[in-house]
Amino acid sequence: MSPALASATCESVADGASGVRFRNPWPEILQRAQGALLGLAVGDALGGPVEFLTRSEVRARHGELCDMVGGGWLALRAGQVTDDTQMAACIARSIDASGWSPTDVAERFAGWLKSRPLDVGATCRRGIRRYIVHGTVHGSPNPGDAGNGAAMRMAPVAIATLGDDSLLERWSLDQAHITHHHPLSDAACLLVGRLVHRACRGEPLSTLRRIALETVGRFPTMQFEPYRGQSSAYVVDTMQTVLHHLFATTNFETCLIRTVNVGGDADTTGAIAGTIAGAYYGLRAIPRRWMRKLDRTLREELLGLAERLAARSPLARSLGVEP
Ligand SMILES: [Mg+2]
Repeated sequence: MSPALASATCESVADGASGVRFRNPWPEILQRAQGALLGLAVGDALGGPVEFLTRSEVRARHGELCDMVGGGWLALRAGQVTDDTQMAACIARSIDASGWSPTDVAERFAGWLKSRPLDVGATCRRGIRRYIVHGTVHGSPNPGDAGNGAAMRMAPVAIATLGDDSLLERWSLDQAHITHHHPLSDAACLLVGRLVHRACRGEPLSTLRRIALETVGRFPTMQFEPYRGQSSAYVVDTMQTVLHHLFATTNFETCLIRTVNVGGDADTTGAIAGTIAGAYYGLRAIPRRWMRKLDRTLREELLGLAERLAARSPLARSLGVEP
């Protein structure tokens, strides 16, 4: 961070030439970027224990699930994250270490798969295996690739490309095509990225809704109003669940609770809702009781990664923030 911005502990700094005081936007952008990455982890951990349950099964077991309870088919500890957060962390660490290198991202995915993680989506596993065997970082277009495994890990790319839509598009598709190559997955990834970009800039929910409806205009199957109530790993169901609850609620906590209580692929709907709502409402809006349940080492690492990724974004450069 430049000395001028680093020393701006209050929210306004003086413009040396004109003497006019302007609001330094960086602290707010930064806490929104951190909100996106920590929101992902919190949503993943909140939804994990009810993954694959129906809405009525969630209600029978938990009433309304409001806390990180652990359990579920993966026998999670309360606050434990799954592949959604782990794959996003691979991307975040890669950007932090190497800038943008799809090969480095794929290599980290491969290392993660070899570590025998608790859960790996079938499409992700197939794509990573293709990389391990053939060394290719782009899978061929595949009708079976319309799962949510690429969209769930969008937060790091969105943060690192703040301020540059074309960079967002290129990096999003690069990371997606390592495991998923399908127009609906691509559209979902780009939509998540665009929503995070606008949310980090402090744009209103009405603007985010307009952007979501632009995607619906191109892909009518993504229509989320009226909400069909489906929450599967099919990226259309996932995005309908996320978008409906994002626009039908007015704070981070309620958005996440309503989203995961639908059940289905609840860790991933929670992760994506947490990514977008985290960017929109910011880090400060994430309930402390959820943050405290995350593994402390992971939580601190994600906070630092979000800060460094945001600081290397084109938006940061345009504001004079140094990595
Ligand atoms: Mg998962």
